[in-house]
Amino acid sequence: MKMILDNLWQVGGDELTHPADAAIYLIRFGTAAALVDAGTGHGHDQMLTNIARCLPAEVPIDYLLLTHCHFDHTGGAAAARRIFSCRIVVHALDAAYLETGDSQVTAAAWYGERMAPLPIDLKLDQEETVLPIGSGAVTAVHWPGHSPGSVIYHTEISGQRIVFGQDVHGPIHPALRSNEKQYQASLAKLLDLDADLLLEGHFGIYRGKTAVQKFIRSFMR
Ligand SMILES: [Zn+2]
Ligand SMILES: [Zn+2]
Repeated sequence: MKMILDNLWQVGGDELTHPADAAIYLIRFGTAAALVDAGTGHGHDQMLTNIARCLPAEVPIDYLLLTHCHFDHTGGAAAARRIFSCRIVVHALDAAYLETGDSQVTAAAWYGERMAPLPIDLKLDQEETVLPIGSGAVTAVHWPGHSPGSVIYHTEISGQRIVFGQDVHGPIHPALRSNEKQYQASLAKLLDLDADLLLEGHFGIYRGKTAVQKFIRSFMR
C-alpha cells in the first residue's frame, strides 16, 4: 500500500499485488470511497489487505471505476464487486466486451487468460459524467484511442487536480480496436486538463504540472 495524498492511495499494482496487475487506486471522500480499476484478480487477497489498511470497514466503496476493458485492469472486478457491493462503472463502448467476456479485445488472451462475462452497473455514454461520491465527486471523461471506451477520471483534493489516466502510454494495436487519431486527440484533451497529479496504470505517479505535461507530450505526434 502506498499513500499518495490524504485520502488517496495506491492499493494494487505490479509491485503491490501481482506482477501482471495494472495500478489499483483508492480514493475516499468522507463517508464513501471508490476504487479505480481492479487488476487481474490474482492479487485479490493482498488488495483486500491493502484496502483494509487505508479504509475503515464502515466506509463503503460505492464504485469501481474502470478506465477501460483490458484484463490487467478488470480481471479482478467481479470479485471486488462481490466483496464490496460496489457498482461497476465503465464506458458503454468497452462494456460490450466485458459483458460478453471477449478475451481478445479485453486482451485477456495476451495474458493466457479468459475474461469471464462481467456485469456492468453503470455504462457511461456521455462525453462527461459527474459521479457524486460521499462528500465529493469524480468526473468521468470519455478518452478513446487505446480502446474505444477508455475513460479518464478526475477530481480535486486540497485544490489539486488529480487525474486517473490508466494506459495513457497506449499501446495502439488493431486487436484492441485502438485508434491512433482518437488517441492523439485524447492526449490533447488530457493536456488541457492541466493536472497536478497524474496516476498512470503502468508508469506510476507523475507529480506537478511540468512532469505530467512532459509525460503526456512524449506520446504526442
Ligand atoms: Zn489497456
Ligand atoms: Zn494496462
